[in-house]
Amino acid sequence: MAKIYLGIGHGGADFGAVAGNYYEKDLALSIGKACAADLMRHGVEVMLSRESDMDKTIAAKVAESNSFHADFSADIHINAGGGNGAEIYHTINGGKGKNLGTSILETLEEIGQNSRGCKTKTRSDGKDYFAFIRNTDAPAVIIECGFIDHQEDLAWMDTEAEQKIIGRAIAKGFLKTLGIPYKEEKAKVIYADAAEIPSWAQEAVEYVTDKGYMVGDGKRFRPNDPITRAEVAAILARLG
Ligand SMILES: [Zn+2]
Repeated sequence: MAKIYLGIGHGGADFGAVAGNYYEKDLALSIGKACAADLMRHGVEVMLSRESDMDKTIAAKVAESNSFHADFSADIHINAGGGNGAEIYHTINGGKGKNLGTSILETLEEIGQNSRGCKTKTRSDGKDYFAFIRNTDAPAVIIECGFIDHQEDLAWMDTEAEQKIIGRAIAKGFLKTLGIPYKEEKAKVIYADAAEIPSWAQEAVEYVTDKGYMVGDGKRFRPNDPITRAEVAAILARLG
């Protein structure tokens, strides 16, 4: 099973970038959680650096990713300080980290974000500038989703629904790199007569609907109607 380590930028007393009531630490957490959920939906094992409002050092994230033996690792951030669009940092050695960064940047562009490109940053000794990239065993990237202090970027990511879309896009980028085909999430069917379904049968009705074994009449499930021999035959054929 593929393993992904997701670092969530900042947290606790460290707000990260701030614009009005919007904090990098909150946006990054919301995006990271959505990304993790989507990866897990595809059978990927995920470790998040945090799931609540707390801080964790870069060194601790690196150590966690390494002991988790992640296949890929990313730290999720929101930019500030002039500019707009997403940018991703990877190692100066390119390779799998660069591939991952390129994939994720593409999926962010697919959901309407501008690209500032995949980048590298070098320290004076010629090594990778960012410790998260330099010290993580797995190919690691730093994702800057957008600029919190840029009006259009903020509008693109300021709601929970949008953060979910961004998280999923990042997951899509990971999955592409892992060679796992992306499965679109099926919209949940809500029957007009859902209230008539007895509580003991609700889970079963959801299951057979999701599997397509029993589909009601499009709008209603008709939970208390008798079933005909023809309908039983149709159900059995779907199971076969
Ligand atoms: Zn940050």
